[in-house]
Amino acid sequence: MTETTTVPSTGSDGAGAARSIEVENPATGQVIASVPVVAPDDVAALVARARRAQIGWDALGFDGRAAVMKRCQKWVSDNADRVIETIVSETGKAYEEALLAEIGYAEGAFAFWAKNAEKYLADERVRSASPFVKGRKLIVRYEPVGVVGVIGPWNYPLTNSFGDCIPALMAGNSVLLKPSEVTPLTSMLMGEMLRQCGLPEDVYQVVPGYGETAQALIDEVDFVMFTGSTATGKKVMERAARTLTPVSLELGGKDPMIVCADASLERAANAAVHYSMQNAGQTCMSTERVYVEEPIYDEFVRLVTDRVRRLRQQAPGAAGSIDLGAVINPPQSDIVERHVKDAVEHGAQVVVGGGRRDENGHFFEPTVLVDVDHSMACMREETFGPTVPIMKVRDAEEAVRLANDSPYGLSASVWTKDAAKGERLARRIEAGSVSVNDSQVHYVALELPMGGWKQSGLGTRHGADGIRKYTRKQTLLVTSFAPMKQDLHMMPYTARRTGFVKRLLKLVYGR
Ligand code: NDP
Repeated sequence: MTETTTVPSTGSDGAGAARSIEVENPATGQVIASVPVVAPDDVAALVARARRAQIGWDALGFDGRAAVMKRCQKWVSDNADRVIETIVSETGKAYEEALLAEIGYAEGAFAFWAKNAEKYLADERVRSASPFVKGRKLIVRYEPVGVVGVIGPWNYPLTNSFGDCIPALMAGNSVLLKPSEVTPLTSMLMGEMLRQCGLPEDVYQVVPGYGETAQALIDEVDFVMFTGSTATGKKVMERAARTLTPVSLELGGKDPMIVCADASLERAANAAVHYSMQNAGQTCMSTERVYVEEPIYDEFVRLVTDRVRRLRQQAPGAAGSIDLGAVINPPQSDIVERHVKDAVEHGAQVVVGGGRRDENGHFFEPTVLVDVDHSMACMREETFGPTVPIMKVRDAEEAVRLANDSPYGLSASVWTKDAAKGERLARRIEAGSVSVNDSQVHYVALELPMGGWKQSGLGTRHGADGIRKYTRKQTLLVTSFAPMKQDLHMMPYTARRTGFVKRLLKLVYGR
């Protein structure tokens, strides 16, 4: 999408929309599309349509829904270049970021949920130890909640906004997706894909808009899947409390990396650079702070600095043309700039980078900070930009203490050639996922739950809970053989029957 286009908002007629979103390419500063906003007052009608459509979609069963998802998987593969172009144009990210972290994820997610949804949501037969339900059939079953509202961020419009729609749909729900106001185009392209792949009308609708549209959506849906900042996540939960609507929150992070003296230094340095600079540092699981044991600190800083100096940053082009692209917009660069300035004012040094550029797109140079400590914003607040602050620590004990000295707990990594020691350290870190000699790759193993501890989130995506959360659990108890006309616990109470119950309890629990 290189020329400005007016895009109808998928699934909604946009009636009543007073404003439109001018979508900018962050790497060029050019407006590339104009998208009508769905006004908050129009949301209820869209949800009503979704509610009607959900009945038929659910009735299709797992096989019917899986067939649509498998067609989508093929569509994304066949149309990969078009999807990449759309993602790159609205985010300013490198071609590889769109291919690996978005196309690859989406293809895998369609395949995974098409195959596994039925297994995770199958009826479960339960055996109970209670003597009072002997002979009864006990079942736990999962029923779609109905209409799911997904509210997403801008950093991975396919993976993190649309990706959560896939299990919600496979569970038999309708979905309304409110993408970030800065990146609505990918979500809308997914609407086109789903229509072509046979998804019934109104089962997936995109609701472009601002915060107030998102709030209206929260009021109407049966479940809210939110990905975004911790500050907005709290507003989502507050709003959802009014209607007691359940929420799942995937929020910000300040991921620590601990490099032990016995680590493979080259591998750790390459990882520190990649996982801090990937997507220009705008990844929830970015390496945002590095703790390095004293004996190897200087060598580690040298290795990282050499590599960061060689990174190529400019407007994205064809595959292999750059390493990192743009920062999404000036407010995001303001945060990064504030963190770098604050660090320098408190005694840190900028070894590489440190500058921003806002003419012809928005860029912040890949930046290495040293002599940092926890008095600085760059070690305490989410930066979400291409910076890597590296702090010297006495030993791994100090590193673990500092890693846990954070309100966030999304993910973390530990680097050591002694895997058993790495695992011991990993178990002490307060984060939803911790890797040893790796980082971030757990995200593509969709069998593994992914979610944040502390203020990094509530609930998880992926794995069994990643789809069960989009359902209501129902317990079924079926008594098909009942020889007694009156059970022992029923009225009228008599001393004889009560005595029997007492002896029974003593027999079962009294030892
Ligand atoms: P924001 O929290 O600013 O926005 C997220 C979404 O919420 C957007 O669609 C936004 O709309 C919407 N929104 C804004 N105000 C409200 C409101 N009052 N009620 C409900 N929704 C609202 O996050 P960003 O888009 O800036 O994304 C970056 C953040 O997302 C980072 O903190 C990052 O760590 C986190 N993130 C977490 C992930 C995880 O899995 N844990 C994955 C990816 C990102 P609008 O754009 O119109 O303001």
